[in-house]
Amino acid sequence: MERTLAIIKPDGVSRGLIGEVISRLEKNGLNIVAMKMLHMSKQQAEGFYNVHAGKHFFESVTDFMSSGPCVVMVLEGEGVIDKYRKLMGATNYKDAEEGTIRREFATDIEKNVVHGSDGPQTASFEISYFFNELEIVKNSTTIG
Ligand code: GDP
Repeated sequence: MERTLAIIKPDGVSRGLIGEVISRLEKNGLNIVAMKMLHMSKQQAEGFYNVHAGKHFFESVTDFMSSGPCVVMVLEGEGVIDKYRKLMGATNYKDAEEGTIRREFATDIEKNVVHGSDGPQTASFEISYFFNELEIVKNSTTIG
């Protein structure tokens, strides 16, 4: 069973999009097995996005991710990494398909409302960055 980390970013939380995003997860049969709200420090955001250290947007994206609370979730299911990335849409909302979360709600390439892991290894690192095993529900009811 595959898992992925999903985040409703500070722009999504401050614009009142928590319900909208969670509703789309439920309607599309993506199973939430862990969830909490937290406000990352700059240092925690740098650790989370360490893979992007040195890139031109690193300072800016870590400032943004530590600018307010996020909702972090673990999703579980067959093929959930790809399924959730399809629901999110491309990083740059201008390239995202119609009907995706980023196409409908993102306001720029950085403030793109949601995050999702891009592969199994990233998912494993990102999930353990925020959750321990006790915080992840086992044998949860499948809605999909
Ligand atoms: P994702 O997996 O689709 O979120 O994309 P990436 O892992 O490539 O980038 C991580 C996050 O950094 C994105 O979701 C954006 O918030 C931000 N980001 C990516 N590329 C750029 C860029 O060119 N400029 C700025 N300002 N932010 C970017």
